Amino acid sequence: MKEDTKLVMAGRDPEQNFGIVNPPVYHASTILFPSLDALKDFRHKRVAYGRWGTPGTHAFEDAMIEIEGGEKCLITPSGLSAISTALLSYLKPGDHLLMVDNTYEPCRRFCNGFLASLNIETTYYDPLINDRIGQLIRPNTKVVYCESPGSLTFEMQDIPAIAKAAKDNGTSQTDIVVMMDNTWATPLYFKPLEHGVDISIQSITKYIGGYADLMLGTVVCREAHWPAVDETRKQLGLSVAPDDVYLAQRGLRSLSARLRQHGTNALKVAQWLEQRPEVKRLLYPALPGDPGHAIWQRDFSGAPGLFSFILHDASYPKIEALVTGNKYLGIGFSWGGYESLLIPCRVSGVRTATKWQEDGALFRIHVGLEDSDDIIADLDIAFDRYHKAAHA
Ligand SMILES: *Cc1c(COP(=O)(O)O)cnc(C)c1O
Repeated sequence: MKEDTKLVMAGRDPEQNFGIVNPPVYHASTILFPSLDALKDFRHKRVAYGRWGTPGTHAFEDAMIEIEGGEKCLITPSGLSAISTALLSYLKPGDHLLMVDNTYEPCRRFCNGFLASLNIETTYYDPLINDRIGQLIRPNTKVVYCESPGSLTFEMQDIPAIAKAAKDNGTSQTDIVVMMDNTWATPLYFKPLEHGVDISIQSITKYIGGYADLMLGTVVCREAHWPAVDETRKQLGLSVAPDDVYLAQRGLRSLSARLRQHGTNALKVAQWLEQRPEVKRLLYPALPGDPGHAIWQRDFSGAPGLFSFILHDASYPKIEALVTGNKYLGIGFSWGGYESLLIPCRVSGVRTATKWQEDGALFRIHVGLEDSDDIIADLDIAFDRYHKAAHA
């Protein structure tokens, strides 16, 4: 079955449901058992208590498992809780974590706060480290965490090389678990588990949700890594709303068509920006001139609509003028919905292993499903405002 067909078919079984095309939504806490004997056997039942899932949420788990090529899936209340749950599953007091330096910023906060308070030490590493990551591995290193391309600056990591180095440097008692935040590519454009990653993390909030109206995350892995994740989920009491999972399932059906259009539009906008004299640099692995282009081409099968660009002039009034007053480019957090967004981002404060060398102002743009000509016209007028704005 080809990928697009999988997105349409995965997790559906109309015959089990009166022929209705989509899996049903069940609102449930208590599940009744016919006898005490049956209740005693609850661990063997997939539907036993609301917090552990219903046929509706299991349908989305099954779909994600199929699309990622995994064996188990945990749905979490947000992308960030998918990250924290995965990390807590494999790190205990005294352990050591290798975290990529350009990780999603709230993840860094979790490492420096919660994990540090549990006496779990984090070493941030250069995203371009490749197999030299072996030199940073200690006897107590339990997790190597990746995100590629990284948040805001879009460096491409050599995931197979990092995963191999992690496996080669683990001892038999302390296998190193490789985790990856794959939110940018989605499992449609990159499959972590096929490239040496053990735990694949996705913020469903972004492209899979796809309509800027829900918060969810997933952790997908093979059987061998599931018991630790399952135990953490049970102890933390994570539970998700059935309606949100239904929406996520619906988003999945159109993921391929949407991503293709996001990617086409983004490439047009990026190529237009490349010609502008105000633009110093684009950060988008899909562009042939990008330093990560070769790895992107080798490992990924497409690019979505999110990238960054750097302008020469970093004065605040000019930044403010570029971002405020656009017709289509909204100002706000998150991305992956159908609509375009533009925000300025500060990088220097959120890198510690590497020094961010670029001066100038960095903007992250999410190119939506509007006509790319309209987005470009919006940016054209934005640059007029930018030029008129006085220096600070
Ligand atoms: C947004 C984002 C997250 C967190 O997802 P939420 O659903 O907002 O918690 C994690 N990783 C990346 C790369 C993100 O962009």
